[in-house]
Amino acid sequence: MTSAEIRQSFLDFFHEKKHTIVPSSSLMPDSPNLLFTNAGMNQFVPIFLGDAKCPYTPGRAADTQKCIRAGGKHNDLDDVGLDTYHHTFFEMLGNWSFGDYFKKEAIRWAWELVIGRWKFPANRVYATVYAPSAGDPSEFDQEAYDIWAELFTAAGLDPKVHIVNGNKKDNFWMMGDTGPCGPCSELHVDLTPEGDTKGSLVNMGDARCIEIWNLVFIQFNANPDGTFTPLPAQHVDTGMGFERVTSIIQGTKGFTDFVHAKISNYETDIFRPIFDEIEVLSGKKYGSTLPPADLSAITEQESTDIAFRVIADHIRTLSFAIADGILPGNTDRNYVLRRILRRAVRYGRTLGFHEPFFFKLVDVLTRTMGDVFPELRKKHAHVREVLHMEEEAFNRTLDTGIKKFAGFASASMAAAIEFPDVDATEAAYRRTELQKEFGELSVPEFLRKSLEKFPGSVQKGQPVLFGQWAFELYDTYGFPIDLTELIARERGLGVDRDGFEKLMDRQRERARQAQKKEVISVSSIEAPATKFFGYDSEEIETRVIDVVGIK
Ligand code: ATP
Ligand code: MG
Ligand code: MG
Ligand code: MG
Repeated sequence: MTSAEIRQSFLDFFHEKKHTIVPSSSLMPDSPNLLFTNAGMNQFVPIFLGDAKCPYTPGRAADTQKCIRAGGKHNDLDDVGLDTYHHTFFEMLGNWSFGDYFKKEAIRWAWELVIGRWKFPANRVYATVYAPSAGDPSEFDQEAYDIWAELFTAAGLDPKVHIVNGNKKDNFWMMGDTGPCGPCSELHVDLTPEGDTKGSLVNMGDARCIEIWNLVFIQFNANPDGTFTPLPAQHVDTGMGFERVTSIIQGTKGFTDFVHAKISNYETDIFRPIFDEIEVLSGKKYGSTLPPADLSAITEQESTDIAFRVIADHIRTLSFAIADGILPGNTDRNYVLRRILRRAVRYGRTLGFHEPFFFKLVDVLTRTMGDVFPELRKKHAHVREVLHMEEEAFNRTLDTGIKKFAGFASASMAAAIEFPDVDATEAAYRRTELQKEFGELSVPEFLRKSLEKFPGSVQKGQPVLFGQWAFELYDTYGFPIDLTELIARERGLGVDRDGFEKLMDRQRERARQAQKKEVISVSSIEAPATKFFGYDSEEIETRVIDVVGIK
C-alpha cells in the first residue's frame, strides 16, 4: 500500500463504522494553553467539556490531524533525526466517540482494522492498559484488559504476555496540564527478531518495537489546581501515528519480508521524495544508517543521515505551520518555529550547503502532499518567500557563529586542564598550545591528549561552554540555546545553561526598562517637564538585530 492508500483505508474503515470524516484543524490551536495543535482531539475539546453540542449523528468522527510536537508538554524536538519515529510535524489519524460508543467498540475496531484489514501479525502486537500507582486519578483499567484478553485469546495468544501494564506517565493521557483526559490503552508492534516470543515489550526503545496507536477513554477534566473532575459523558479519543504505521507496512512489504525489513518513518514514500530532492541539491546520498548512540563519535555517513532526517522533518513543520499562519518570530510559538528553522539551516552545513537551500524543498512537499492538504498549494509562494527570507537572515551570521563556537569550545576544554606546578603565565601559555593543537577534537580525546602532552597536569571538572559564550552566540549570531547545546553535544561538551539563563534574565530586564523609557518619552510630548533618557547603546544594538531578524 502507498501512504495515500493507508491514510484513505483508515478513513474508509471508520466511515463504514458510521463516523463523519472531518478535515484536519489548523496547527494554530484555539486553546491559549497550547503552542501548537499537538493531537487529533484538540479541535473537539469544547464538545468533550460539554461547552459545544456534538454536530455529528451518530456522535462519531474520524480524520487525519496535522500535529506539531515541539516545545510544551509534548516536546519531541530533541529526538528528531536521532531516532526514526519521532517528528516535530506528523499526521495523527484518529476516531472519536462523543458520548456514543466506549471501550468495547473502540478496542474491537482497532483490532479489526490493524489485524483484520491491514494484516498485522497478531503475535507481534502488544496492548498496554492503565495500572495506577497510589494517588493516581483512576483505577486499574480492568474493562480494557478484559476486552483485549478476549481478542488475544481468540487469536491463540497468551493475554498475560500480550497485555502490559502502563503507569500514569504512559497510560493516562493529557493534552496539556489542563483539559479533558483519561486512562488509555496503546497498541505497540514488536518487529525485532524475537518480538513474537519475549513479551512484556522488553524491546521498547528499539526502532522496530514502537507504539502505533493510543486509545484514550476520556472521562475527566484536569483543572488548573491539579484536581480531576468527572465529565458529563464518556468519550473515546484515539490517535494513530500515520508515518509509523506506514513505516511498518511498507518496511515489511505488507509483512511478507521481516528479514530485510527497514523500519523507519524515513524509509517510506512520505519522506523518500524529500530525500530525493535533498540528494539532488546536495550531491550526497542518504545511507540508511541507524541513529548512533554517541554523537561525539560518529561516522561521516551517520552525520549525513542525521542531517537528512532533521532537514526533511523540519521542512514539513515549517511549511505546514506557515501555511496555517504561524510565522517564525522572536517569541512564543513563533520563536519555536525560528529555532526549528535555524536547526535545519545549520544541519544544511553538514550537507555542504552554504547558500539558502531549505526553502527550495517546499516545492517537493507541495507536490507530494498538496492533494491531501490544499493549503500547501494555496500558500506555496508565501511559504517559500518567508522561508527564503528567514534562511538568508540566519545565513549571514551562521558561519561566523560556527567559527566563534569552535574557539569557545576549545577554550572551554582547555579551561578544564590545571597545571599545579607552574605559574599563571605559563599555564595560560600551555592552554593556548592545547587549543591550537587539539582544539578540533571531541572532549574525551582532547582531555586524553592534553594530559599526555603535559605530564603533571590534571583535569578539573567536566568542560562546559560558559554561559557568557552561549549568550554571545545567541545575542550576536542568532544561535538559539538549544542549537548551541546540540552543537556542543556533538563534541561531547556541556553548556552552562544556568549562566546563560542569568544573562537572558538581565537582558529581559534591560528590555523592560527600555520600554518604560519609551513610555516616558511618548508622555513627554504632552508633559515637557518629564525628561527623556534615551536608549543606551546596548538597547539600540538589540533593536537593530531585531530588525534584520537575527535574534
Ligand atoms: P511516544 O511514546 O512514542 O512518544 P506518545 O505516547 O507520546 O508517543 P500519543 O500522545 O499517545 O504519543 O499520540 C498518539 C500516537 O501518535 C502515538 O501512538 C504515535 O503513534 C504517534 N506519535 C506521537 N508522537 C509522535 C511524533 N513525535 N512523531 C510521529 N508520531 C508520533
Ligand atoms: Mg511522546
Ligand atoms: Mg507513549
Ligand atoms: Mg501514547
